[in-house]
Amino acid sequence: MLVDSYNRVHNYLRISLTDKCNLNCIYCNPNSITNRLEKASQILGYDELLRLINIFSEIGINKIRFTGGEPLVRKGADDFFESLKNKYSDITFCITTNGILLEEKLENIINSGIRKINISLDSLNNDCFIKMTGSSELTRVLSSINKVQEHEINPKINTVIIKGINDNEILDFVGFAIERNLNVRFIEFMPFNCNGIWNKGFMPYTEVKKIIERKFILVKANQDSSEVAKDYKIEGNPGIISFITPISEHFCENCSRLRLTADGSLKFCLFTPEDKKIDLKIYLRDKNYLDSDISQIIVSAIKNKQPERPDIDNLVQLKNLNMLKIGG
Ligand code: SAM
Ligand code: SF4
Repeated sequence: MLVDSYNRVHNYLRISLTDKCNLNCIYCNPNSITNRLEKASQILGYDELLRLINIFSEIGINKIRFTGGEPLVRKGADDFFESLKNKYSDITFCITTNGILLEEKLENIINSGIRKINISLDSLNNDCFIKMTGSSELTRVLSSINKVQEHEINPKINTVIIKGINDNEILDFVGFAIERNLNVRFIEFMPFNCNGIWNKGFMPYTEVKKIIERKFILVKANQDSSEVAKDYKIEGNPGIISFITPISEHFCENCSRLRLTADGSLKFCLFTPEDKKIDLKIYLRDKNYLDSDISQIIVSAIKNKQPERPDIDNLVQLKNLNMLKIGG
């Protein structure tokens, strides 16, 4: 079992499949950082990922989410998902995607047995979608959401609200949740160093909630204590509204997450500084290390996980944090 020094059991691994992306979200991948992407040889191969999934499954991981960058831009990702089918009955596999390539890859994804799909969507308005992502493909994302629902899977929608950019769409997103019977999750904007707009753009979830409560009654939904989202039903309506509050009310005390970066480093937190990550690729590529050695390295290293994320002033100053590589 993966237990840290604060008795937190870790059962959830997020794997960044690639640090490449087909969108340029202003809060994650503005054009300026694309030239810092890793070389292909630095990215873990599928065989290395399979080996690590085996190792992690032996030490208590039972939920794995593929993320990125955009996981579906990686060549062979859908074949890789299919190769996992029926191999790990104890692991629930999930994907977080921007939805651009989802519709065309959906059949393979469904065939692989993946049923938990989160789709990021920050605007329902064409012009604002272009402003936020650099892409005019909003209709592709909406069409992917429809297709996923046609398979009787209800995707969760991840929405980052930025003051002055898309905060005028908060009620539109609630309407979208109601109309489509979806779970829309408002995620607080986090200050990664590639987004100098954080100071002006951050909007605490309480402000977002207040705007919603001018028109709707939100009723706290029962939920699993391991879930980081605060879920609410919308009285008298279908759909769920959630708030993910890493900034104003962090959830570190119940953290069960580990993160594997696209280049094979293990991070215990989104905000783990570069010099505190564990480079598993070194051990994977050294024949002297057996799987049992690598699991031992992981089990020991987790004891050094910090009790909680750095405070806001320190967060804003963190350098070299690249959401694409870490996997949001
Ligand atoms: N490309 C995929 C996508 O967009 O869903 C997966 C990777 S993306 C890094 C994962 C999630 O991180 C997305 O929901 C995105 O909105 C969120 N994210 C990225 N940068 C963020 C930031 N600075 N603050 C809050 N959420 C962020
Ligand atoms: Fe790409 Fe996702 Fe980051 Fe947007 S949030 S730039 S889609 S990785």
